[in-house]
Amino acid sequence: MVTPYRHEPFTDFTVEENRAAFQAALKQVEAELGQHHDLLVGGERIKTDETIVSINPANKEQVVGTVSKANRDIAEKAINAADEAFEQWRKWDPEARAGLLFRAAAIVRRRRHEFAAYLVKEAGKPWKEADADVAEGIDFMEYYGRQMIELKDGKPVNSRPIEHNRYFYQPMGVTVTISPWNFAFAIMCGTTVAPLVTGNTVLLKPASATPVVAAKFVEVLQEAGVPDGVINYIPGSGSEVGDFLVDHPKTKLITFTGSRDVGIRIWERAAKVHPGQTHLKRVIAEMGGKDTVVVDRDADLDLAAREIIVSAFGFSGQKCSAGSRAVVHQDVYDDVLEKVVHLTNDLTVGDPASPDTYMGPVIDQAAFDKIMGYIEIGKTEGKLMAGGTGDDTKGYFIRPTVIADVDPEARIMQEEIFGPVVAFGKARDFDHALEIANNTEYGLTGALITNNRAHMERARHDFHVGNLYFNRNCTGAIVGYQPFGGFKMSGTDSKAGGPDYLLLHMQAKTVSEMF
Ligand code: GLU
Repeated sequence: MVTPYRHEPFTDFTVEENRAAFQAALKQVEAELGQHHDLLVGGERIKTDETIVSINPANKEQVVGTVSKANRDIAEKAINAADEAFEQWRKWDPEARAGLLFRAAAIVRRRRHEFAAYLVKEAGKPWKEADADVAEGIDFMEYYGRQMIELKDGKPVNSRPIEHNRYFYQPMGVTVTISPWNFAFAIMCGTTVAPLVTGNTVLLKPASATPVVAAKFVEVLQEAGVPDGVINYIPGSGSEVGDFLVDHPKTKLITFTGSRDVGIRIWERAAKVHPGQTHLKRVIAEMGGKDTVVVDRDADLDLAAREIIVSAFGFSGQKCSAGSRAVVHQDVYDDVLEKVVHLTNDLTVGDPASPDTYMGPVIDQAAFDKIMGYIEIGKTEGKLMAGGTGDDTKGYFIRPTVIADVDPEARIMQEEIFGPVVAFGKARDFDHALEIANNTEYGLTGALITNNRAHMERARHDFHVGNLYFNRNCTGAIVGYQPFGGFKMSGTDSKAGGPDYLLLHMQAKTVSEMF
């Protein structure tokens, strides 16, 4: 019997001892910077001439590490290794597979600050966000391990007196995990271990901006006892390796988290049946968001302002769950806007390695340029109230930006910016606020700040998002507590960290015997 699941508590950095421990981890990681990591294919380490260089987005000069870079030949080799390893792995006792996740979770828990320190350096996450990212990864392992144990015998079905029916789940086979840089530990870990624990074999292609923390995690999986060929580490370019893996006739399942455009590309390509392919591929896609915090007339306005800030600017707005739109009832609009501008001007932007930094950099030059471009567009679509400036001389820093009086159809109200920019729009009444909240092609998260119970009940049905929050921010879903995933162009509503998630990685089988 395992203990009941409980989410991993966050580190309290007001405690001096914890601060000292985190500083020590940062020092240790700093001393390790620049190391090289090879690919892992069928248990064999492969070094390539071409490498991916991972840099610190807060300090472009600092190389976090380098990793070997897979090409098509290596990807082919990895698919074959994963396919071969599947024959044994699929028959492992599910409890033993779950046990490996519990072991890996224990290893990461012991090295928790070290992993978080890597996220500070490689993803530019401030302490608190980095700590939460690692905690979420631990949660995925603990939660999915337990879910697998619950599912191992299938589910009950009826049998007539002359027969015996059974209904249970089997793994699918070779799984391609394409993970994002924004939750470079949590989502990389969750989308790797879910297919593993259900008995599939995995080719992990992490985001090119954050391959080092993924390499470190693959070492943990090996240490925990995941057999050769069951986990393969193959970073590489999307157009070369990503497409190849998605198209491959041996690929059974693709689990992707990233942009809408890449998600659609994968969805379309996976639908094509290639010569030699004898199955339809399954795709789990977690894509973008354009998420709204709605503030009602009858609401705690200080709470509203605080939650808008957390939703919009946590990790520089680089979350698909980020609240990049604030839609406020006209009667309280000016008050809420003023409070938000005031709080925004107080936010600290700087090196995420410093404990006092609220917001670090954005991930890279392309993101910096794109976000600054949207700020320029925003200035023509509304009134710049705070921020609006950026500095990419040392790292990719952008001030948290508030743009007011934006039309619901404006580009900065419709397009995912993935940066620290929030657009304010005015609603005539609650109906109008809901109408605006629903008027994008996305449907991931949303928040409603209100004291009006009837409006909450309306929103429960009519605010069309996968994750709806009342009187709090719209980010930071917790594994096993707030299953996470969205509607519309936000993806396949796969609800990571939820009770149905593992089923997406398996196929159900009915066996019926007559007596
Ligand atoms: N699960 C995260 C949250 O609830 C967001 C994940 C993402 O941005 O990809 O904030």
